[in-house]
Amino acid sequence: MNRTLLIIDDSKAIRSQVAQIFSDGKLFVNILQAADGIEGFKLLVNNQVDLILCDIEMPGMDGLKFLAMLQSREDLREKPVIMLTSHDDLDTKVKGLESGASDYITKPFEPSEMVARVRIHMQLKTLQDELRRSNQLLLELAQTDPLTHLCNRRYLYEKLAVELNRCYRSTSPISLIMADIDHFKRVNDQYGHQVGDEVLVKISDLLQEKLRTYDLAARYGGEEFCLVLPETDLHAARNIAERIRQRVESLSLAPPMERDKMTMSFGVAAYDGTHDGTIDELIRAADDALYEAKNGGRNQVKTKEITP
Ligand code: GH3
Ligand code: MG
Ligand code: MG
Ligand code: MG
Repeated sequence: MNRTLLIIDDSKAIRSQVAQIFSDGKLFVNILQAADGIEGFKLLVNNQVDLILCDIEMPGMDGLKFLAMLQSREDLREKPVIMLTSHDDLDTKVKGLESGASDYITKPFEPSEMVARVRIHMQLKTLQDELRRSNQLLLELAQTDPLTHLCNRRYLYEKLAVELNRCYRSTSPISLIMADIDHFKRVNDQYGHQVGDEVLVKISDLLQEKLRTYDLAARYGGEEFCLVLPETDLHAARNIAERIRQRVESLSLAPPMERDKMTMSFGVAAYDGTHDGTIDELIRAADDALYEAKNGGRNQVKTKEITP
């Protein structure tokens, strides 16, 4: 891996000495040097730095101020910083650790001790990064439908609770579209489940494509989808549903369905933000409208007002 070390020290001799210690390239491929906190911070922001060795006493921005700057930036807070301190400076060592430094090394330092400590902190950093990545992956898996990669129903409910609350506080509207593929069972019956799955994925991609970044598309059940459109009233949501309906209708499908057309029915409901609305009320209203669309002959959009 292309790892980078940043050395911040006002003494050029110390910077050169430290750079020399790591010059074998075993731990770091790149070594950056800065003479004070500000210069160090600039290098940090513009480079992918893996570990920082930072002197505490420097003219201009000293080590403690540098640590404070680091803590104020969420993206930099986790960077390992090892302080370079003088022997008798217990107070500063404690202050540095309290300010977010991972460790300290006392000057004059032993090269072998410095390498050993830096290696430990690099290993810790690697473990932390892996843990963060696996947590992120777990979170995504827990929120995502594995077939369509849309949000799953659990995440939909979580998000709806937050969005409804936001609308109520700002008295702004939010719309919900329930969409169900028409006669989907026939696809499975005629072509098999696998082809059915492909159609589900294709339609999911289309739904996702048609939404703004702050909208949300979820797989509500088998061939039923739910779209959440914040800051959108019933009229606007109806138009969006109608556009999607037309797109689905004109969707070209892969063989063996190249001569088939799919259609979808839509139920749209909106909450205007003026009363304490509930998720159930919104979903029920959209569901009623969807039922009406199915009964009306499918391949159409129906709306339902929510009256407090
Ligand atoms: P309608 O127009 O009334 O909605 O008719 P429909 O056939 O779409 O509705 P119905 O509820 O009768 O059937 C839904 C079908 O969706 C039945 C089920 O096997 C299929 N289905 C649900 N989930 C999946 C899935 O993940 N993959 C596949 N291939 N089919 C699924
Ligand atoms: Mg100094
Ligand atoms: Mg259906
Ligand atoms: Mg259905």
